[in-house]
Amino acid sequence: MSIKNLDELKTRVNIVDVIKSFVPLKNQHGSYKGLCPFHSEKTPSFCVSEQKQLFHCFGCKESGDAFSFIQKFKHYDFNEAVREIADIYNFELEFSGEKSTPKKDYFEFYARLNAFFKENLLRHDKLLAYLARRGLDKNDLDYYDIGLVPDNYKLIEFIGNDAELALQTGLLIKGQNGIYSQFAKRLSFALKNTIFKIVGFSCRLHDFENFKANPAKYINSRESFLFHKSNFLYNLNFAKSAYFKKDENGEQKAQKMVIVEGFMDSIALSKMGYKANVAACGTAFNQVHLASLLKQGIDNFALCFDKDEAGLKATLKTCELLFKHGFFESEVWRLAGSFKDIGEILETSTKNGQNVVLDEIFEKHNAFEFYVRAVLAQKTSAREKDKFLNALLKSIKSKNNYFLKDFCLEILEKITGKEFLNALKVSVKKVDFDAEKAVFKTILSDKNAEFIARELINSAYFSEYESSYKRFVEIGELDEKANELKLDESISVLNAVDFDECLKSFKKAFLRAELEKAKVARNFTLICDLQKQIQKVDEVAEIF
Ligand code: ZN
Repeated sequence: MSIKNLDELKTRVNIVDVIKSFVPLKNQHGSYKGLCPFHSEKTPSFCVSEQKQLFHCFGCKESGDAFSFIQKFKHYDFNEAVREIADIYNFELEFSGEKSTPKKDYFEFYARLNAFFKENLLRHDKLLAYLARRGLDKNDLDYYDIGLVPDNYKLIEFIGNDAELALQTGLLIKGQNGIYSQFAKRLSFALKNTIFKIVGFSCRLHDFENFKANPAKYINSRESFLFHKSNFLYNLNFAKSAYFKKDENGEQKAQKMVIVEGFMDSIALSKMGYKANVAACGTAFNQVHLASLLKQGIDNFALCFDKDEAGLKATLKTCELLFKHGFFESEVWRLAGSFKDIGEILETSTKNGQNVVLDEIFEKHNAFEFYVRAVLAQKTSAREKDKFLNALLKSIKSKNNYFLKDFCLEILEKITGKEFLNALKVSVKKVDFDAEKAVFKTILSDKNAEFIARELINSAYFSEYESSYKRFVEIGELDEKANELKLDESISVLNAVDFDECLKSFKKAFLRAELEKAKVARNFTLICDLQKQIQKVDEVAEIF
């Protein structure tokens, strides 16, 4: 089977778009960087070049184009990677040779099934009564596309000539005793993509049917080119517009995208009036979910998980993921009172006929503060607490953004007191050293550093090593001074974070010196230009 319009797809593909769907990337000095998905690292050495349409990791040396990225990242073969990329661009592939099913046929098939399941649920009074007790009336069932899968016989009869499609999507399975469905008799939740097309179903157990021993609570549609469990977010279709909704003055409200545990939480929260919420589907909220939200411009988060031990564990883990990518200002929403999950609140308020006041249900905490307090509470000995705070200090130190550092320090002061903070500040302060030597030595010793330096600085920024640097980047040769520096053991090679910061201060020092000269010469155009450039160095966004 070959793809007829592959070249057309290739012309549409932008590697930055593709990789951004899976890896949080930041535009840094005009090139895109992020944490490498192929090896474990704390500082980003994974670069994506829009110009070359290639990615390269300076840590593990993985490299390639958009298609080979998907192949490596998802362990796909080439054709599967092409399908996935076509999916990102909503591009209809044309195949020659073997007959294949166009995407719209799947959408239509799912839409028909969904209507059938919904109709079927309306005939099941006991289930309807049960759902009504949990706060979902018939309108809700319709709005949120909740249905009931019939038994195997009726399902197969309904599917009729579409059996091939049903087998491909895993809705039907060929077993030893013939064809059957794992979804039979379960409550169905339609899974929709951001353009409101159904890409699969998640089906849940209920108490009004005898299921076989030890059944899974939820069964999801099989992974396909339409549905990727690892990056699917339930309710994103509704949540997106709620998140970006403007207030009466046309200003975008400072909304949070609330990440909840399950479908029922998501529906309950929406019903209570907060629609900007999403739930991962059969998997924990992960980096790919984060990347796909960031890609859509959603970067303000709150976590609201169950108030039990598992929920707390998931909260702390998700906090770490958010912090790793610099989102310290996220929030954790804890349920007030004795409520265990959001669904329970809806159930209770329905029973009592009360209206829910959102502000009264949640205790909102800054995520970083919540995280530090919760982890400290878990540590039993002073030694363990100390170890944790030291590790935390190390993480904060590695962040390049001073505002974030300050923000985190303020919170730590609140929790641990001033004394600890002072100790912290001393160790955060940069040590004085010969920046020029350290920077040049790092460039000489580290390919990644060389790559960054080539993009960011030029030889004029150096004083002592101006001609040595020039010779090195232009013809790749080390002169005597460069050789001496390379052998000088008293100068150490900088780590990526320090190198980045040095380079910036290096650039700023140069620009400031130029600015002074321009002021003396009263060259106002140049003054303005240099001031802008200095500002730009500070503006550079950092991930960590
Ligand atoms: Zn790597």
